[in-house]
Amino acid sequence: MTAGRELGGFPYGQEQKKGDGGMKLHGTSQVNEQGQLCIGGVEATELVKQFGSPLYVMDEAAIRANCQAYYQGFVASGAGEVIYASKAFMTMAMCRLIESEGLGLDVVSGGELYTAKQAGFPMERVYFHGNNKTDEELALALDYGIGCIVVDNHFEMKRLDKLAGERGVKVPVLLRITPGIDCHTHDFVRTGQIDSKFGFTLPTGQAAEAVGAVLACENLDFLGVHCHIGSQIFELASFQYAAEVMMGFADELRAKFGCTIRVLNLGGGFGIRYTEKDDPADVADYARLVIEAVQQEAQKRNMPVPKLVVEPGRSIVATAGTTLYTVGSIKEITGVRKYVAVDGGMTDNPRPALYGSKYEALLANKANQPNEEVVTITGKCCESGDMLIWDLSLPKVESGDILAVTCTGAYNYAMSMNYNRIGRPAVVFVRDGEGSVVVKRETWEDLVRNDQIPASMLR
Ligand SMILES: *Cc1c(COP(=O)(O)O)cnc(C)c1O
Repeated sequence: MTAGRELGGFPYGQEQKKGDGGMKLHGTSQVNEQGQLCIGGVEATELVKQFGSPLYVMDEAAIRANCQAYYQGFVASGAGEVIYASKAFMTMAMCRLIESEGLGLDVVSGGELYTAKQAGFPMERVYFHGNNKTDEELALALDYGIGCIVVDNHFEMKRLDKLAGERGVKVPVLLRITPGIDCHTHDFVRTGQIDSKFGFTLPTGQAAEAVGAVLACENLDFLGVHCHIGSQIFELASFQYAAEVMMGFADELRAKFGCTIRVLNLGGGFGIRYTEKDDPADVADYARLVIEAVQQEAQKRNMPVPKLVVEPGRSIVATAGTTLYTVGSIKEITGVRKYVAVDGGMTDNPRPALYGSKYEALLANKANQPNEEVVTITGKCCESGDMLIWDLSLPKVESGDILAVTCTGAYNYAMSMNYNRIGRPAVVFVRDGEGSVVVKRETWEDLVRNDQIPASMLR
């Protein structure tokens, strides 16, 4: 696994600047001499010609480089395991990529589990999360021979013990713990504080009691504990603190039950740079810091060092994704605002409407032209909230221009929907001057595929 590669003469991994010195570009994205945005060595306008618009473009080399940074940080040193949180962006091709980079997979539903299985992903490298797994999902996981189930609550623990017993297997489990850590991030993506739908609460004593219960389950093999303190976190100290709190908890378990945890899973949540306001750390620093924190805590408490597991989602794929749209109608309200409508919107990227998320964008076909006007990018849904970017500086915008919204690799395709019966765009992986479709564009036929007209209405 080699880190860094050269593409088109640009040292890979360095962020390139757009022609006018404005926004940063990630991965292999660059502006060529003709002023065209290129991703993976292909002009964005060419990708739209070939695969249609709107289009999700994933920079394969960038995803692999992110995987490799995690592998180098956590796995190569022997400290632990990296499992990709597939909910950020999941397709069968992505499962193959993750497998080839030596990472594991975290799934949160029967659908994600089934996708991994269909892609031939090794089931012993899969962790299954979720706060309300059904019997059907648990049975599927057991029948597939899943690596580990992260038990979220007592209702699940009892049913899983029974289902495993019926199959004569002892299933490896982690317990999901809510450590009560309040980190500085958006409320909707904050999952570590006490008031959460996820996991067993640590500060109230519920978590320790749950470990007692899991140890008493004949068909569950208690590996250790898990926590996930939130998402889009920039302060490395939050992860360090989580490691300390969880190791303290492990110490408490040793005193109480005489058990040692073999695995400490600290979840995901590492932040990425969506806009210039975001300032993420390096994965290497993140790895060094948490590995050291766990080692120090173990030493201090005279405990064996558990295997460390992390579950990055966003930081593997977000910066590798670019959504290409075609500009359609433009409406100017003199002295108020200029609306530029694109051929997608909240259906392919619900995050601005859902979380108020901020994105940057450029005109792919005018990438070296200076900014001339401030516009607001809106989608095509019948919904006033269908806004993608407010007050964006761009060169003079015309209908037919290709707008490239950057950093859309995580929680965009994964959260896409068919509101207004708009089909999902195709997803294309680009690499070394070539694009390959990994998810086909949804057609109008796809949209009516599951519709049925009751016989009484056919008469
Ligand atoms: C969402 C989630 C992740 C991934 O979070 P990112 O912010 O995308 O890194 C990891 N683990 C669990 C349990 C999650 O719910």
